[in-house]
Amino acid sequence: MGFNTLNLPPAILKGVRAAGYSEPTPIQRKAIPIVLDGKDLIGAAQTGTGKTAAFILPILARLLQGTKRLRALVLTPTRELAAQVETNARDYARFTDINVGVVYGGVPLPPQERMLRGGVDLLVATPGRLLDLHGRLALRLDYVEVLVLDEADRMVDMGFAPDLRRILRLLPHDRQTLLFSATMPPDLNQVAREALREPARVDLAPPSRPAAGITQAVYPVPRNLKTELLDEILSAIDVRSMIVFTRTKHGADRVARQLGKRNYAVAPIHGNRSQSQRERALGDLKRGRIQILVATDIASRGIDVEGISHVVNYDVPHTPEDYVHRIGRTGRVDAVGDAFTLMSPEEQKDFTAIERFLGRAVPRVMLPDFDYHMRPREIADSIRGDGGGSGGRGGKKPAGRSHGGGGPRASSGRGGHAGAHKGPRQRGSGGQGHSREQKPGASGSEAPQFGRKPKVIRGFDRRRGRP
Ligand code: AMP
Repeated sequence: MGFNTLNLPPAILKGVRAAGYSEPTPIQRKAIPIVLDGKDLIGAAQTGTGKTAAFILPILARLLQGTKRLRALVLTPTRELAAQVETNARDYARFTDINVGVVYGGVPLPPQERMLRGGVDLLVATPGRLLDLHGRLALRLDYVEVLVLDEADRMVDMGFAPDLRRILRLLPHDRQTLLFSATMPPDLNQVAREALREPARVDLAPPSRPAAGITQAVYPVPRNLKTELLDEILSAIDVRSMIVFTRTKHGADRVARQLGKRNYAVAPIHGNRSQSQRERALGDLKRGRIQILVATDIASRGIDVEGISHVVNYDVPHTPEDYVHRIGRTGRVDAVGDAFTLMSPEEQKDFTAIERFLGRAVPRVMLPDFDYHMRPREIADSIRGDGGGSGGRGGKKPAGRSHGGGGPRASSGRGGHAGAHKGPRQRGSGGQGHSREQKPGASGSEAPQFGRKPKVIRGFDRRRGRP
């Protein structure tokens, strides 16, 4: 089914074609008719599903008719996501006279005030900056007909609920409201009740289902050896573009420095980096000038770079939702990607919670030639894992066993990791070059085939012998 069955005006269809989309994604197919109908909507869809076009395209269709003034407002948690949504909207609107604008914090106000004075039909904004500008009388919200709350759970997580309520009070009562969120925490539920009227629900990808095409693996490793192990992994695989996630800004800087010293082209991206530094880093990754972006969770919102081949969780994320969001940065629509998690013994509990959430186990992988500085018993403990992934303890059932046992189609059409690596290494009787152990329920076909060449790791003392 093509886009032309969705009742979008020709000028918008032209923009969609120019963006290179041939078929709507499932969320677009379901949400666009509802939004065109003027109904309120709650969309449970994660990034990577095409949700931005699902709300922008029908909004643009509405804006083509009627008076030109600020009639549509999209609120996002971060400036990166705001900038990304604006870029997409401009793209789709390029064959119309609709003016799209964006405002976010961390940059001077006057240019944004000037831009608003020039007239905007669709504004993408972060909540705090929108309120600042409204307080300075730089914009009027009286004519807003459509409000979108994008990644609403994250906005509430970040403490924006009071700002959202303030904004809701400034908007006309009679409007259409669309809310997109991967999860529905209680605070958000309250905001949703205040903001939406009889919303239709499009429950597309439950947040426990990472997008298709993502192959996942866990690498147990002592915390102090994570960078060495990452270096070892990097030397074994073809990495086009990688995002490495850390829990803290400080951690992101440190890992970026360590990888830089190992001659990788790398840049950090987090809340302490200026807007221009963040934009430069993203642009460099897009253009292939750098290979690795080291990011915190907050900064990762809105990172939308085509063809990210690998996501590495340098630290196990705080919450299962963050895990799903992080690994959603690879394997975007129709693409494939690999997501590795470096897990220290202290992080096992957090990872178990993630596996319980996913309803399945993620395969453990250990490199045979890497010196883990651990006793065999410790290694056995770390690769065993004790997650609820097998679904046997009241957790969710493992997903998708029927088609290969591994869950979210991670293994389909891909044959594990083999294609991404630089060629299998022949070891003895044709071993895989890695040892792994899996929980029942994890798919053998999904586990990475870690064939690789031996490598002497710089700055690593091999003489200490193997554990
Ligand atoms: P989103 O979930 O909105 O962040 O979109 C994820 C990515 O999918 C973006 O890079 C979009 O440009 C892309 N995309 C959105 N809709 C389609 C489509 N119908 N066909 C192909 N790619 C799409």
